[in-house]
Amino acid sequence: MKNTLNEITKDIMSLASKKGFGTKPEEIELGEKFALLHTEVSEAYQAYRKNNLDGKNGFNEELADIILRTLHICGIYGIDIEKEIDEKMSYNKDREWDWDSLNEKHVK
Ligand SMILES: [Mg+2]
Repeated sequence: MKNTLNEITKDIMSLASKKGFGTKPEEIELGEKFALLHTEVSEAYQAYRKNNLDGKNGFNEELADIILRTLHICGIYGIDIEKEIDEKMSYNKDREWDWDSLNEKHVK
């Protein structure tokens, strides 16, 4: 990766400041940011359904949008997402799921 997630977050915050997207909690509506994050998830799935994988507004680009919007929220709230990911991955390594109780696809 060219930059770490925290470095990308800094770039996003710089851009957010220049473009007026908000850099502090009082400058945004968190619900709106989450709604836009949901939009990117839907766009990613629609692109996948239409088999637009790496084109403009394609699946790959929409996945990037999901991460960029998430990192923007992290920047606004001062969240060290690398630390959070490390901690969560460490937790998940030893975590067990009761797949028999879940109505969800799982490869055993
Ligand atoms: Mg998008």
